[in-house]
Amino acid sequence: MKYISTRGTAPELSFEEAMLSGLARDGGLYVPANVPQMTPEEIAALSGLSYEETAYRIMRPFIGDTFTDAEFRAIIDRAYAGFGHAARAPLVQLAPNHFLLELFHGPTLAFKDFAMQLIGQLFQAALTRRGDRVTIVGATSGDTGSAAIEAFRGLSNVDVFILFPHGRVSEVQRRQMTTPTEANVHALAVDGDFDDCQAALKDMFNDFDFRDRVKLAGVNSINWARVLAQVVYYFSSAVSLGAPQRRISFTVPTGNFGDIFAGYIAKQMGLPIDQLVVATNQNDILHRCLGGQGYHKGPTHPSISPSMDIQVSSNFERVLFDAYGRDGGAVSQLMEELKQGGFDVSQGALGFLQEQFASGRASEDETLQTIKATLTQSTELLCPHSAVGVKVANEHRAVDVPMITLATAHPAKFPAAVEQASGIHPPLPPRMSDLYDRPERVTRIANDLGAMKDFIKGHIAK
Ligand SMILES: *Cc1c(COP(=O)(O)O)cnc(C)c1O
Repeated sequence: MKYISTRGTAPELSFEEAMLSGLARDGGLYVPANVPQMTPEEIAALSGLSYEETAYRIMRPFIGDTFTDAEFRAIIDRAYAGFGHAARAPLVQLAPNHFLLELFHGPTLAFKDFAMQLIGQLFQAALTRRGDRVTIVGATSGDTGSAAIEAFRGLSNVDVFILFPHGRVSEVQRRQMTTPTEANVHALAVDGDFDDCQAALKDMFNDFDFRDRVKLAGVNSINWARVLAQVVYYFSSAVSLGAPQRRISFTVPTGNFGDIFAGYIAKQMGLPIDQLVVATNQNDILHRCLGGQGYHKGPTHPSISPSMDIQVSSNFERVLFDAYGRDGGAVSQLMEELKQGGFDVSQGALGFLQEQFASGRASEDETLQTIKATLTQSTELLCPHSAVGVKVANEHRAVDVPMITLATAHPAKFPAAVEQASGIHPPLPPRMSDLYDRPERVTRIANDLGAMKDFIKGHIAK
């Protein structure tokens, strides 16, 4: 199994190399050269299996010879052992033919734990075998950083630095990043927004001198191993509702396009997905792009669903690669134009995108209204991101096809908005109820690439 870059000029890598490097050296993202196929019989055989066994069968063809079967099974088991629900990703019913996939039972209460807990175990196994260590730098709008710190804290072969936009993450998100006491984790509060953090990270990867000196590794949603981990729950949930005999639709609250791209991969592998619906908040650049208005950056408007406050949706590049017939030169050209503010999508590529994805957006008011209405109609208390999904799903539901909306975070991670909408203050699960009492450790840092690099160089283990 080989991985190729969306910009066409970086060397092909194995799964292990693609996982450890994150971003390709030509600035592109790694994708599989060929997507492995599952037959209807293989999909049907997933019915009734544990989440871990399903994960093993879905991901195994993608990892090549990086791990033996026994090693890979053990990695998966360790990754999901810390989840607070035996089903890992349970489905609950909201309305006739509308289901919610609860992806918030991991240690930091957001779906990113599915990928990050797995990546922590994959890195540890691969680096231990190589006798090597890496520096992980991540940019976060809140949930990636907490999930990464939780997954890597205390690991002996990794230093972790997380850049987050100062004042723009929820208190629970911030505390999950700033309260771990292990010396190998560093939370950096950047005076800027999420796109600034993400841009700084990209620049660090493109500075080969720095990249090699600190052995930089990326675990942002651009890391292929993260996308892969997220493919699993599309299969597990669809099969439990009757796939492959029945077609299933999904609505996905979207920011960096990682989670929805995993659904697209599931479909390419053979899962009979009817609609794949992109749900955005008021930062609706993806919805506008899919509507034919091109991809043009504007200002980011802070919202009550902050993990989706994004203008540069990094994984979108992966689907553009397919939309442009896997022409790395064409993708490079678009990404150059994006640096100047944006690009128009060709007719052919737009046709491809519109065939694969539907889309919708939810305003702030609509998000609050959806939290309130869903609580009344089903007793389910949604986080604001999940509410964006439910609002858009309701606009796309068809009577004869089950709709699954991905619930990406626990309501207690965003208590202010949830309380504003519903009057209910969502309590943290008991296992983290002392979060507000733990001391915080954080470094405030200017939105300045040099300052960030110096801090990292000065704080990696020697
Ligand atoms: C990261 C995140 C999203 C967006 O996911 P992408 O993969 O970036 O599209 C949505 N909701 C929550 C709670 C998140 O943490």
